[in-house]
Amino acid sequence: MKPKIRDIIMESPSGKAEDWLSRQKDIEWAKSVSERPAKEKQLSDIGVEPVRDTGHFVDGLQQLKKSRAFVGFMESCTHCGICIDKCHMFISTGDVNNSPVGRAELVRKLYRKGKRLKPAAVDIRKLYTYYYQCTECRRCSVFCPQGIDQSEITRNVRNILTEMGEIPEYVAATMAQVYRTGNNMGLNAKSVGSVVNFIKEELNEETGKQIDLPLDREKADLLFIPSSADLFVNTDTLKGYTKVMHVMKKDWTMSTFTTEAANFGIFASEKHLRDFGDRVVGEAVRKGVKTVVWGECGHGWRTANNYVRYELAKKGIELTHVHQMTEKGIERGIIKVDRNRNDDLYNYHDPCNYARGGNLINEPRNVLKAVVRETVEAEYTKQETLCCGAGGGLLADEKDWNEYRAWAGWPAVYYAWKTGAHHMVSPCAIDKAQFPHVIGYHKVELQNHGLMDLVGYAIEI
Ligand code: SF4
Ligand code: SF4
Repeated sequence: MKPKIRDIIMESPSGKAEDWLSRQKDIEWAKSVSERPAKEKQLSDIGVEPVRDTGHFVDGLQQLKKSRAFVGFMESCTHCGICIDKCHMFISTGDVNNSPVGRAELVRKLYRKGKRLKPAAVDIRKLYTYYYQCTECRRCSVFCPQGIDQSEITRNVRNILTEMGEIPEYVAATMAQVYRTGNNMGLNAKSVGSVVNFIKEELNEETGKQIDLPLDREKADLLFIPSSADLFVNTDTLKGYTKVMHVMKKDWTMSTFTTEAANFGIFASEKHLRDFGDRVVGEAVRKGVKTVVWGECGHGWRTANNYVRYELAKKGIELTHVHQMTEKGIERGIIKVDRNRNDDLYNYHDPCNYARGGNLINEPRNVLKAVVRETVEAEYTKQETLCCGAGGGLLADEKDWNEYRAWAGWPAVYYAWKTGAHHMVSPCAIDKAQFPHVIGYHKVELQNHGLMDLVGYAIEI
């Protein structure tokens, strides 16, 4: 028999489960947590001139009636409730407003009023609270018999909220960094150059070989887009990419203009998503590359696969993911690996936006199987994967959300832990920041890795 939500929470070795469940009795407790909207300066940094009028929400909702998908999502819910316990945010808070159907009802009841909807009926604070607590993971859509995709409703609602200047400061501040420096972490060209030189020295020491990590080369076949966290925190992931490029003899470069595989635009508005995607496209065209290769980032790959790919294609440039490239290299015998260097049992965790938005399920698994001794699947895997609990921009809020995120990510870690593996492999920049936090909070014996880290350990140079 499958464990119930309460059992999963109670099984946490953190010793904090009862206290957490008692807080769930105040079902709207999370409402007060997220009240930190962006300030005027932050809005101006991301080019938003806020329309501070609830009438704008009413107009936005009227506009959405032109979208067949949105109308379908509003009209077809049977209130069967199947989706409720599929959402980690509901599991974490016990608040039905934080479930897929509960969240949608906040909009649906306004939608149903049709032309009779008055601005005074729109509770912007409530919409803000619950629509920025959806991590846009799309898990609900897999289980809903009607195929209702709450993540798409969330993106539509956030689009309007962003135009109104209603956006959390942690999302706005991260996006402002991208406009300023080309990456979420605000690393300027000099800092990126220093990191690259440091990693080159380490690689040369480790391998005894001259391995290049080219930056800002003017002519190259291939432009590589890392997550900025790979440059700063997950440097073993960066080494894995570099070793693969080296043994595959790729003519490649990174660019200090665009060192970010993530795209926080998807957590704000379509305009911002396109702005960040277009930044990559523009740089690929300027450099005259034939291919753009994307690094490890779940939601970033979703935006690349569904938007950047088509913009690049208009310019005759291809897009691929580093896992797809690595899989081919291993299959063709160009990349030689020794799986005994990762001599243990590993569980692959599908990042939501690879499995449910990026069509990237088999390639990372095939790569993992080639580079470690043994793998095991968790109960919920592939399209049914559980969210890390930090998507939708929530990772960037390191203040109020820390404990909340530890519980929102617990179901995913729980099922990885139950496989008996001591290693969880989760090749997404958000997961790599979130899962160590969840694992540490719950005190389970697991280590979290990026996939390219393990490739880097196993590769024969
Ligand atoms: S998209 Fe994910 S976080 Fe949002 S309502 Fe659905 S299951 Fe919950
Ligand atoms: S599973 Fe689908 S139809 Fe059922 S309540 Fe949830 S959104 Fe509505």
